[in-house]
Amino acid sequence: METPVIAARSSAAMRAFAPMVTFASDPRFAGRSSGAPEVCDFTLGNPHDPVVPGFVTAIERQLAPQHDAWFAYTINHEPAVAAIAAGLRERLQLPFADDDILLTSGAFAGLSVCLATFADPGDEIVFNSPPWFCYEPMIAAHGLTPLRVRVDEQSFDLDLAAIEAVLTPRTRAVIVNSPNNPTGKIYPATTLEALATLLTRASEQFGRPIVLLSDEAYSRVLFDPHVFVSPSRFYPHTVVIYTYGKTLLTPGQRMGYLAVSPHMPAREPVRQALYIALFTMGLTVPNAVLQYALPDLDKLALDLGLLHRKRDRLVSGLRDLGYDATLPEGTFYVLVRTPLADDWAFAAALAEHHVYALPGSVCELPGYLRLSLTASEPMIEQALPVFAQALQTSVTA
Ligand code: PMP
Repeated sequence: METPVIAARSSAAMRAFAPMVTFASDPRFAGRSSGAPEVCDFTLGNPHDPVVPGFVTAIERQLAPQHDAWFAYTINHEPAVAAIAAGLRERLQLPFADDDILLTSGAFAGLSVCLATFADPGDEIVFNSPPWFCYEPMIAAHGLTPLRVRVDEQSFDLDLAAIEAVLTPRTRAVIVNSPNNPTGKIYPATTLEALATLLTRASEQFGRPIVLLSDEAYSRVLFDPHVFVSPSRFYPHTVVIYTYGKTLLTPGQRMGYLAVSPHMPAREPVRQALYIALFTMGLTVPNAVLQYALPDLDKLALDLGLLHRKRDRLVSGLRDLGYDATLPEGTFYVLVRTPLADDWAFAAALAEHHVYALPGSVCELPGYLRLSLTASEPMIEQALPVFAQALQTSVTA
């Protein structure tokens, strides 16, 4: 309920978040967090397998204070930033300097800091739909205007003409998320190059650069033989947003970073503005211990072989049953068309048998379910017969 004390932008954020809140508070799906052995939880990107080896010891090594200032305010711990810049130089093939990196408490914080830095209330932010379900609430929470553009329904590639059509002199940023949550699509270099060309053209026309916010949360969650291409390779006004929550499968340990493209013109004031925004947004940096552990943690990753096996088993299992399921190129997510038009009702039917999936409507994909591959292998095996049964019931209903 809206009350006079709640700011209009907060109310707008609540409205935009409503589908997720509805899901999270729906009693039909409450059993997913019961911890009961029969639960098969495919809803969110939460871990259901053992923690990545080396994660705990990397943190333990940094717990005991090595001097009196061990737990002092810690921002952009130098060895952490140096490790990140070196990794990015290798992976993205761009000459990132240490000063281009700002440590954040995950991609949530990175995005928020960027929105605060690049846009004023009433300005427009473009995002692609189906999206990660937090973009619109976060844009709204900053008093900004969200503009959604549907991706191509067949290929899930960006619809460049549609993006160009929504750009106005008030457009401050375009969010691009590759590999994409929820479609699993990695945008090809040709698409990103053409996007860069059109953004450059629009920026010149409007007399102000449009910033590309490249949400690369899943850039290290790739299925062989797919490779990730960062839009920063083609567009100088790019800021990369990253989180370790996906690569390490530890979303509760908040750590990530922003990386300003080394090709961004006049980037020093931009870096300074982002740095100040880290404070004004609530000192949204990882805790000191995580910053100290970061050079070790940056070398670790979840078991991609296991994730690949889970993807193949789940997708082929569902396809064999007769479902229309996507084969993601990266990320944790498989999209499945629901045999009932009502994805909420179909998700509820599965939940009666302890199989929990996210109704596609939560991420602007009615008629689909989003299944997270962070479910364990036993969960997948337990769930497939339930999917078989649910399909039969809905066909004969
Ligand atoms: N971007 C995308 C596309 C995501 O899927 C998520 C997490 N689901 C985030 C950003 C936020 O990541 P974190 O919680 O690690 O900050």
